[in-house]
Amino acid sequence: MIDIGASFDIRSSFQLVPEGRYNVPTTLIDSIRKRPCEVNVHDLDHSGNLFGNRDRFLKKSKRFNKSLAAYGADGFRAGCMYRNIDWCDQLRISYDMSVPNVAHLEPQRGGSCTVFPYFIGNVLELPLTTIQDYSLLNILGSYSIDLWKAQIELILKRNGLLSFIVSRVYNGGARAQCIQKLAQPSYAPPPGEPNLVCPPWRGQSVVARTECYGASGLSQLDRYYGCGG
Ligand SMILES: [Zn+2]
Repeated sequence: MIDIGASFDIRSSFQLVPEGRYNVPTTLIDSIRKRPCEVNVHDLDHSGNLFGNRDRFLKKSKRFNKSLAAYGADGFRAGCMYRNIDWCDQLRISYDMSVPNVAHLEPQRGGSCTVFPYFIGNVLELPLTTIQDYSLLNILGSYSIDLWKAQIELILKRNGLLSFIVSRVYNGGARAQCIQKLAQPSYAPPPGEPNLVCPPWRGQSVVARTECYGASGLSQLDRYYGCGG
């Protein structure tokens, strides 16, 4: 995955799972950083259930924070994007990437309704602003990047944040070609340094908000504190 990105001058942020069936040796973390790409923590054991129960969450958050420190990371993405942003203050993170802007095809409804970063308390939220590869390839069954192209065009028009989830390396075939096409210079967003995404937003005047819940994402505006664009 790093090689595909590097061939198009794209640096990615890699979310690593500390527990469960995963093995995260220091050499892996070092090799990602050397390329140079970013490391942050994804869920805890990849059950997608980190936020399932408050008491369990509080216990797990201590283990999470230890892994975060061990990795030298300060960012988080929830497994399957199953999240409870009201509890994230227990995680010693500076930024989160668990909230989509819209969630028509996401496992959890809601969304921030913005393509701009914003703060949840002290945590900078970097919303997912484009369709996940899983949703495109497996739910819509499309191997075309037309939807990504349309999203890129719309977001760039507003100078918003382009963020993508590509969850795995596909072994050849139409799926792999689809991901390769997305990375090609004519379609890909301008090269960025993911580990520099968070700091520049610190100290900026960024709107604070929580999520918009409801089928349309707009039905509970009492939780919606402002509009980034
Ligand atoms: Zn995952």
